[in-house]
Amino acid sequence: MLENGRGYLRSPALVFPIPSVIRLIYVIRRPRPQGRLSRRDVFLRDHYACQYCGRHTHDLTLDHVIPRKRGGPHDWANVVAACKACNHRKAGRTPEEAHMRSPGHRSVDLQPLPSFYHYLDSQMEWRKFVPGYDVDLGFS
Ligand SMILES: [Zn+2]
Repeated sequence: MLENGRGYLRSPALVFPIPSVIRLIYVIRRPRPQGRLSRRDVFLRDHYACQYCGRHTHDLTLDHVIPRKRGGPHDWANVVAACKACNHRKAGRTPEEAHMRSPGHRSVDLQPLPSFYHYLDSQMEWRKFVPGYDVDLGFS
């Protein structure tokens, strides 16, 4: 047990913690559920930084790297966090056409882990284990 977030179960003789975060001794492999594409999950994946200029801001938009009008899909690989200035500058163009840096993470792990982020509102003790969540997001 790494975190006890929920108190204890008590029997007349014994007290058992109720774990909120545990470390597994071995990895349990299971199919990865397809997470739904949400603004918050994209922003968290991108660490609340604009993927064009790198600026950290609370004022982000979702940007389709290849614009939707040009056939760009609405999926994890094609949607990134962008600040309003970069989104406006890029408009309906590809990064190359707009002479902007192409988001760098697109070849790595594009989809975040299953969308458990909404639990973080109630499970305070989980937050320190989620990369990017310790950024001051203004909605804690
Ligand atoms: Zn930007």
